[in-house]
Amino acid sequence: MNLSEFRRHGHELIDWMAEYFENIENLPVKSGILPGEVLNQLPAHPPSDPEAFENLMNDFNEIIMPGITHWQHPGWHAYFTANNSYPSILAEMLTSTLGAQCMSWLTSPAATELEERVMEWLGEMTGLPKGFTGVIQDTASTATLVSLLTARENATRFAINRSGFYGKGVFTIYCSSEAHSSIERAVKIAGFGQDNLRKIEVDKLFAMKPESLESAINSDLKKGFVPLAVVAAIGTTGSTAIDPLKEIGEICKKHKLWLHVDAAWAGTAMLLPEFRYMIDGIENVDTFVFNPHKWMFTNFDCSAYFVKDKGALIQTFEILPEYLKTKEGSMVNNYRDWGVQLGRRFRALKLWFVIRTFGVKGLQEKIRNHIRWADEFAGWVENEKTFEILAPSPLATVCFRLHPAGVDDEQQLNSLNARFLDEINQSEKIFMTHTKLNGKFTLRFVVGQTNTERHHIEKAWEIICGIAMRMK
Ligand SMILES: *Cc1c(COP(=O)(O)O)cnc(C)c1O
Repeated sequence: MNLSEFRRHGHELIDWMAEYFENIENLPVKSGILPGEVLNQLPAHPPSDPEAFENLMNDFNEIIMPGITHWQHPGWHAYFTANNSYPSILAEMLTSTLGAQCMSWLTSPAATELEERVMEWLGEMTGLPKGFTGVIQDTASTATLVSLLTARENATRFAINRSGFYGKGVFTIYCSSEAHSSIERAVKIAGFGQDNLRKIEVDKLFAMKPESLESAINSDLKKGFVPLAVVAAIGTTGSTAIDPLKEIGEICKKHKLWLHVDAAWAGTAMLLPEFRYMIDGIENVDTFVFNPHKWMFTNFDCSAYFVKDKGALIQTFEILPEYLKTKEGSMVNNYRDWGVQLGRRFRALKLWFVIRTFGVKGLQEKIRNHIRWADEFAGWVENEKTFEILAPSPLATVCFRLHPAGVDDEQQLNSLNARFLDEINQSEKIFMTHTKLNGKFTLRFVVGQTNTERHHIEKAWEIICGIAMRMK
């Protein structure tokens, strides 16, 4: 492909992209293909001769597109959202055009300095206290791993980095039984051992019980374990429960434990001052993560990680071989030492484009609408006798199930709701997923796709009710 072909195909692609968004509602939200269907259409061996771009696009449309699940469809109510937006997509095009590898200040000074500034903006926009410094990580999973590694090194004065775990005692980590699986994975790969993760019980609202946390810590201390860190969830993945940060923070302070907050999805709601109650107690928090790539209209991947002690973070990861030394040294931020990976994409650009295009007010308005529509939806569910709400919805996710009069066997209800969900998704108009709360098969209705409007929520409700009426 030469430059003039690149230019021509580039213009064609922009048209393709605009038409995609124009027609997205006509596509089935969830791909309905069977396992192997795409694979079997792909040649077993790579082409030895060059192929025309037209052929590629043809195959993209014919083979790939039917196997795509459309996360940007306004009928997206599954998992959490992974939103993009027009400014974010355009910024990603520039990022890939520049192809800059932003490991050090020197390797693209503007990328580093823009990241520094937009993370300050994001800290201010979410109401985090001034003492926090931000850095973009690829995902919340990585941020949580980075946090627990920093906790480990901070507590042992960087001794495990130097000489390993031998003779350091057995560390214990705490999170609620509703916490995200990425915490267990971080505990596993950071060398703590899954057996040393304590899953603390939750209350009726699915939030961590502080008194159970404290008794678990005391019991571990008595047995000779070394309690190290707590991960509190602001917005659990199952039901968006909010752990009581204030009480958890006091316990951490008292026992000198590291406190990490996982607000992967819900953190975006902090753009609204009325939701900052969720971080009441932030003064005792060491690290905090939320994902603009979920609800804040910024293409995956973009995870905002905030730390109180950037020195501890850098000292945990820093490594300086001769070939990476620069004369600016520590006068500037070298983000290669702020996490696991060396190479980094220029991710601040899309965040900058998103924040400036929407403006803080524009972002707030969208988020506020999502929360309002979810509240309305929850009201409709509540008023319909065959449905049952299974958890509070403090933000924009509604947990419920079908519960027809006279059917009270839990197993029967579980299989009924599994079939119900299947039927809903076979409509191809909306996509929802489930979780289990207290053993009950629970449908989750997440409101927050970039392109969702109120009329889509009404339509979704019609579809759900229509299918519910046919369920036996
Ligand atoms: C989605 C989610 C994660 C994982 O996010 P990634 O960025 O995909 O790693 C972690 N915690 C919570 C609460 C989540 O909802």
